[in-house]
Amino acid sequence: MSIVSKSLKRIKPSPTIAVTQKARELKAAGKDVIGLGAGEPDFDTPDNIKKVAIEAINTGDTKYTAVDGTPALKKAIVKKFKRENNLDYTIDQITVGSGGKQVIYNALMATVDIGDEVIIPAPYWVSYPDIVLLAGGEPIIIKCTEEKNFKLNPSDLENSITKKTKWVILNSPSNPTGACYSENEIKKIAEVLKNHPHVHILSDDIYEHISYEGFKFFTIAQIEYLKDRVLTMNGVSKSYAMTGWRIGYAAGPKEIIKAIAKIQSQSTTNPSSISQAAAVEALNGTQTFISERSKAFQERRDFVVSELNKISGINCLKPEGAFYVFPNCKDLLGKKNKKGHFLKTDTDFVQSLLEDVGVAVVQGSAFGLEGFFRISYATSMENLKKALMKISDFCKSLK
Ligand code: PLP
Repeated sequence: MSIVSKSLKRIKPSPTIAVTQKARELKAAGKDVIGLGAGEPDFDTPDNIKKVAIEAINTGDTKYTAVDGTPALKKAIVKKFKRENNLDYTIDQITVGSGGKQVIYNALMATVDIGDEVIIPAPYWVSYPDIVLLAGGEPIIIKCTEEKNFKLNPSDLENSITKKTKWVILNSPSNPTGACYSENEIKKIAEVLKNHPHVHILSDDIYEHISYEGFKFFTIAQIEYLKDRVLTMNGVSKSYAMTGWRIGYAAGPKEIIKAIAKIQSQSTTNPSSISQAAAVEALNGTQTFISERSKAFQERRDFVVSELNKISGINCLKPEGAFYVFPNCKDLLGKKNKKGHFLKTDTDFVQSLLEDVGVAVVQGSAFGLEGFFRISYATSMENLKKALMKISDFCKSLK
């Protein structure tokens, strides 16, 4: 009999982390590999933020803090929501965890009972369904097709809500597609949710600051009649190039915020005191580099989308945000690679791409939509140029 619990057997390890690991191993073995799998900005954390962290170490800010965040960081988060989203929260409606992932994990663990349903639009961030499964819940996946720009259709949402629905998860800008919901699109989703007062909304806004061409970010908590049912999660990982610092946060109903703190108090306790000090500077300090970096991301997106669409058999939408594209490779499936192996699925396709030409991407099926793959363009233009040439040669070589 296995020692591993039944609930753990319901889940799989993160496929995006697995791809990054496989690319690392190939590199360590001396292979020339370009990693387009990782979901993190290649930029460094800004100097003003690093400086505050070093000061925190030197001044002894190195002890346990309040479990769900220091008062200084919570105040900075309250200010952020007011300044950027025109949302009013009090300190006791804020929680801070070791990364956005922990905040989502805590929120679902604290609220999902066995058999509860959580609606997840696909393509989705890989961790949502597995966290729901670990909590004993049932992920209800709504496929959002390429024809619908990978966005949730209000009538599909309406048809998926049952008495057991506890949460709907929204993520804009999206990982893995980069799709962004306009204010109008969010309002249409809100109208559906208005009639189902038992349903809560988890809004994952982690890519809020990475969007293009003047896209105007709007988050569902801004809809007054829904605000009491929305948990808005955000963090410093992507906006401030702070993935390794592990700070995420959320704002929402006090009951959920308290429940999250209870779980955290029995697991990791507080997030790193030094990282919290750094996050205060990230949120309160200068924000100018955000738009500078978005410009660099936009240039890369334009290049990647245009090169991909030159490849016969690939079709790629031009997303408005995040640093991912999600090209369609269905026309290339069923073909043979140089070794004579049939590439039946998108998983075969990405495996062959990694092994044959050394480009690491992630298969669409890992995000709940088969026949696609995800490219993260959060890497240098030089890497992207090399990678796109290799992808193009690879696709041409399929017979
Ligand atoms: N939500 C989405 C959509 C993400 O892509 C990620 C990270 O990849 C997270 C949440 C978690 O971010 P963090 O690094 O803060 O845990």
